[in-house]
Amino acid sequence: MKVLVLLSGGIDSATVLAKLRDHDREALAFDYDQPHAIELDYARRIAEREGVSLRVMRLPRMRKVDDVVFAGRNAALISLAVAVAAGEGFDAVAIGCNFSDWERFPDCRPDFVTGLGKVLREAYGVAVVAPLLRMSKAQVVQEARRLGVPLDETWSCYSPKDAKPCGGCLACEVRAKAGA
Ligand SMILES: [Zn+2]
Repeated sequence: MKVLVLLSGGIDSATVLAKLRDHDREALAFDYDQPHAIELDYARRIAEREGVSLRVMRLPRMRKVDDVVFAGRNAALISLAVAVAAGEGFDAVAIGCNFSDWERFPDCRPDFVTGLGKVLREAYGVAVVAPLLRMSKAQVVQEARRLGVPLDETWSCYSPKDAKPCGGCLACEVRAKAGA
């Protein structure tokens, strides 16, 4: 399978990338003026370590609908990834959504990811796969360790201060709770 992996620089997408080592992989990251743009440096390093080429697509700035959810983010990112994938002969796009995202991120829930995946596959022949969709963050962290993903070389924080994690945002909280 030729797969385009959405890579954010965080634990989830790094784990997806590692999990798909048996496949022909490329990675795609997005620059949407996120306050945590530092994650793109981590994405570059993760791709390099996996020996995978990474492209970074520049998007208009996205706006938030609350303190953590960007309006339309996964709808846009998944659709754009499928657009690239369909044009370049990829079989699938992979995304790192998991169970711990469901509560706060409507666009990581199974109905959304599988529903959008279904219409995109029907239209463009590219599947959307989410290999972590039913795993908790703690299980993702276990899987990352099993696959040899260096967790200290991933980035989670939404509000970096002086290039260091803030320790207080939702991403930092979820990461700490999962034991990473
Ligand atoms: Zn933080």
